[in-house]
Amino acid sequence: MHVAVIGAGIVGVCSAAWLQRDGHEVTIIDPLEAGEACSFGNAGSLSPSACLPVGMPGMWKKVPGWLLDPAGPLTIRPSYLPSVAPWLIRFLRASRRGEVERIATAMRGLLGPVFEAYTPLLQRAGAMGLMRRTGCLYVYSSRETAQQWRWGMDLRRALGVELRDVDREELEALEPDLKGRFRFGILAPENGSAADPSALVKAIHARCIADGASHLKQRVTGFAMRDGAVAQVRLAGDAPLDVDAVVIAAGAWSALLTRAVGLSVPLESQRGYHVTVQSTNLALRHTVMASEHNLMVNPMDVGLRLAGTVELAGLNAPPDYARADMLLARGRELFPHLDTSRVTRWMGHRPCLPDSMPVIGRAPRAENVFLGFGHGHVGMCGGATTGREIAALVSGRSPEVDLAPFSPERFRPGRRGATAPRSGAAA
Ligand SMILES: Cc1cc2nc3c(=O)[nH]c(=O)nc-3n(C[C@H](O)[C@H](O)[C@H](O)COP(=O)(O)OP(=O)(O)OC[C@H]3O[C@@H](n4cnc5c(N)ncnc54)[C@H](O)[C@@H]3O)c2cc1C
Repeated sequence: MHVAVIGAGIVGVCSAAWLQRDGHEVTIIDPLEAGEACSFGNAGSLSPSACLPVGMPGMWKKVPGWLLDPAGPLTIRPSYLPSVAPWLIRFLRASRRGEVERIATAMRGLLGPVFEAYTPLLQRAGAMGLMRRTGCLYVYSSRETAQQWRWGMDLRRALGVELRDVDREELEALEPDLKGRFRFGILAPENGSAADPSALVKAIHARCIADGASHLKQRVTGFAMRDGAVAQVRLAGDAPLDVDAVVIAAGAWSALLTRAVGLSVPLESQRGYHVTVQSTNLALRHTVMASEHNLMVNPMDVGLRLAGTVELAGLNAPPDYARADMLLARGRELFPHLDTSRVTRWMGHRPCLPDSMPVIGRAPRAENVFLGFGHGHVGMCGGATTGREIAALVSGRSPEVDLAPFSPERFRPGRRGATAPRSGAAA
């Protein structure tokens, strides 16, 4: 079949690569080069342990305090609050205990195979060096403080995530540069990271092109339907493209396209920021997650990346780099000897559904349209497995992961998860 893959982020290129392995002819469509949108500047963590949703039980109590604190982990632009309110209500409903357990179980199924799903793609691309398996350290100021996150850690353990308590001495041996800052840690040894997320996307994309895929640098504007299926993809600056199947993997912009095939999904951008520091005097070996500081720090080929924060302001508002500066300030606090003379700042749109799960499946009203978007905070980790599962659906094979929880229809009124008015804050 001739399959059009819309989006050249991590989900799109992995879908393209897996589709090619099944013998399909692939056209990637994206006005940007591969790996230049959200997949460019993320924290690169490949963490099968990251199966918890963003909304956790009791979080609603913290939200007002966060919003009042300019350095808090969440900010909402006041003018955007009315648009995002229905999405927030759904988000908070998905943070109830029973929902969190259901979501974490589903996400563990998707994220668990991260390395087995990436390995064939990166081996073929000659880019195995871009995937590291060095583990993640969750670090805390004390063992007592870590108790705040205990329920979530226990849930992960119950789902088979390996998590090992690390006392102060071992922590300092594992990461000498954290000495004196943190007194307790939890090691997730099965986790890994991308040495450079954008380079990883570009490497898989380059291999797809070398294997015969083409990349149309165009924006998709809609579809021409025939007999309940998409016959052509409409492009902003070119003649329509004849297709046998379509994959929508357009990240935070996907809801604009699903509407054209009659599907409304409450997709929201959780804007996140990074600073990447060219510091030669701080050497971390693991991905470090400092939960009390809402900060992820990852040593990469491109420098030491400090990433985090959530800003709700939609797809069109300009970046507020004060959020990135805040990450840098926190980094300086944690690592006083960090050399911050050479720093780059970035903002990206995390594609987020209120239940922190992506949509993976066939579009209900267009039988040859397949959906892979909404991976939120874990798209790098879930990208390769999603691509593998989408290729299975396109090729008529049974998926290896239980895709029922990721159904595109779950937000329809009356379905589980459809807990708010229809007029959700679609992208
Ligand atoms: C600060 C930050 C830190 C993060 N850290 C991590 C992490 O450590 N680990 C992890 O797993 N994830 C992390 N993430 C999340 C991860 O980056 C995203 O989930 C992932 O990159 C989403 O990939 P994607 O392919 O869906 O979207 P994108 O990479 O955004 O790609 C979508 C593409 O679709 C294209 N497109 C959109 N509309 C159209 C159209 N109409 N026609 C054609 N093309 C179109 C866009 O141009 C874009 O190139 C982080 C995100 C942020 C912001």
